[in-house]
Amino acid sequence: MRGQGTGDREEGPNNLYLKNGNSYAIEIGVKKLGIFERLEAYDHEQLILCSNRQAGLRAVIAIHDTTLGPALGGCRMWTYESDEEAIEDALRLARGMTYKAAAAGLNLGGGKTVIIGDPKKDKSEALFRTLGIYIEALNGRYITAEDVGTTVEDMEVIRLETRYVTGISTTRGGSGDPSLVTAYGVYRGMKACLEEVFGDGSIEGHTVSIQGAGHVGYHLAEFIFKEKGKIFVSDIDDKKVGKVVNQFGAIPVNPDEIYEVPCDIFSPCALGGILNEDTIPSLRCKIVAGSANNQLLEERHGIVLHKRGVLYIPDYVINSGGLINVADELEGYNRSRALKTASKIHDSVARVIAISKRDRIPTHVAADRMAEERIRMIKEIKKIYHSHPGHP
Ligand code: NAD
Repeated sequence: MRGQGTGDREEGPNNLYLKNGNSYAIEIGVKKLGIFERLEAYDHEQLILCSNRQAGLRAVIAIHDTTLGPALGGCRMWTYESDEEAIEDALRLARGMTYKAAAAGLNLGGGKTVIIGDPKKDKSEALFRTLGIYIEALNGRYITAEDVGTTVEDMEVIRLETRYVTGISTTRGGSGDPSLVTAYGVYRGMKACLEEVFGDGSIEGHTVSIQGAGHVGYHLAEFIFKEKGKIFVSDIDDKKVGKVVNQFGAIPVNPDEIYEVPCDIFSPCALGGILNEDTIPSLRCKIVAGSANNQLLEERHGIVLHKRGVLYIPDYVINSGGLINVADELEGYNRSRALKTASKIHDSVARVIAISKRDRIPTHVAADRMAEERIRMIKEIKKIYHSHPGHP
């Protein structure tokens, strides 16, 4: 794991995609869907296949929804076992980005690129420049960024051919490592949770137990420490635990025991799938709020948490600071502006809680509803005619 780019490894609602062996295939009943049926199933706008034999490029760009703005989403490079699997991944991840951007209040749609190939062996200048040419040809409908298997350096090669790439290093005027902004967003989201559960958003006197003292976990611990919160921390890397213990007075916990720590907030900042049958019964917290992607092993675990009265904040709402950070770069990066935008994650979290109570639904369903309501609202107002270049 690395804390660069959008941090959007496995984001968004993927519950409707059934895991099928190693691949994700959309199935309705037992019937496998054709390409156009798949696009129609979740209203994807466009699927672009990019091929160049000389450059060794096989890539898929999926654009899910551009109601709110250009589709932004990372470029993943992976050894997919089939073209089918790559297409499914691109479609699923692009849709996740639509929800993430909408929930974050950004004027961006959802898209994703996947490159079929081994990131350790198959990268070349020609491959990334060719992809850059294809992205440029989309004329801004899609903006790419770093993701699993690609690096900031790869994005800089893509940038030789297209303006539509973000998440460049700070030395080139880009936004760099997004972890601080992500952690700040998580911290702001925690405050909204504390307001809901304890009637006051101050972290002082509350206990937060952090799983993962990596890029995000470290910065998060600092925010909590500065506000006089008590911290428990676990990581499989003792050095990282030691740093948080020494600098922020945290209490170290064995990785296996972190779920059982009595605390107000459990903050998963390491792995996906950690909210499941084995861990949920052990939890002794009132709130789950952390940066890790895909925290619920399965959709139904969100319902289990809801029934147990644990306030779970869906990952893609509370960890959108990474996306906010790269989105800010599109206007010429300004860290204080990015932090200001990320502070609004507080309001998004509060809105998810309000929708959950209004509609009596678990928060992970409420988050999807919040995103869909915003997209619907913008679609509605876009019907109003106004004359500007490009409008008929
Ligand atoms: P990171 O790799 O820097 O940190 C993850 C930490 O988790 C590492 O220190 C690792 O040793 C630790 N870890 C692994 N297995 C563990 C276990 N079983 N128990 C305890 N610790 C364990 O990653 P990061 O950038 O800090 O991101 C953390 C999570 O947040 C990831 O899931 C990432 O996808 C997600 N995320 C990150 C960002 C971002 O801006 N970096 C944005 C959105 C989402």
